[in-house]
Amino acid sequence: MSKAHILIIEDEPTIAEILQYNLQENGFRVSLEETGDRGLATVRRQLPDLLLLDLMLPGLDGLEITRLLKREPKTAAIPIVMLTAKDDELDRIVGLELGADDYITKPFSPREVVLRVKAVLRRVQTARTEPDVLQFGKLRIDRQAHRVLVDDTEVRLTVTEFKLLEAMAEGRDRVQSRSRLLQNVWGYSADADSRTVDTHIRRLRHKLAMTEDPIETVIGVGYRLRSG
Ligand code: CA
Repeated sequence: MSKAHILIIEDEPTIAEILQYNLQENGFRVSLEETGDRGLATVRRQLPDLLLLDLMLPGLDGLEITRLLKREPKTAAIPIVMLTAKDDELDRIVGLELGADDYITKPFSPREVVLRVKAVLRRVQTARTEPDVLQFGKLRIDRQAHRVLVDDTEVRLTVTEFKLLEAMAEGRDRVQSRSRLLQNVWGYSADADSRTVDTHIRRLRHKLAMTEDPIETVIGVGYRLRSG
């Protein structure tokens, strides 16, 4: 397989270089752009496999770039991981709503970024080979529309809850260990541990409120989404 191509748009040279170095060390091909306008032009020209996008940029900012890329059929499917400051909560939410796949808060460890990038690429890869709508008994997961229906009634999930359900659905009848779910849904983050998975599973069960719980707990291992 050829190396995945990551484009970094980041105006702080030290951050950009650390990211570039670590991603290259992990086998990625990396390009750098420092401004929003140049970055946007490069995305359109090179169609990278993933975009690492700083939100605060001179010229066009990260949100504007996300909006433009998601509108164009040629670039809409390129996964975007946003780099945000800790107090950019609102921008982060807007970014995810615009279609960004994940975000990383500064300051971050390069290791975290590499793991997140890998997780997003893996998710996108799986998504391309799976159908858009997954049916598990009365539970229907529409991955394209980001909707979950139980008996044709929509259940409102948070982004994380949806990702968790999707990650289990992709395993189809396979037991998903907590660490695998952590890796696929949360990537890596210091404050996420196996209890984080349990907490979200509990909320998910509560929201789905199905008489026959589709999520099976496999003691000592993890969870399985039952298809029957
Ligand atoms: Ca910046």
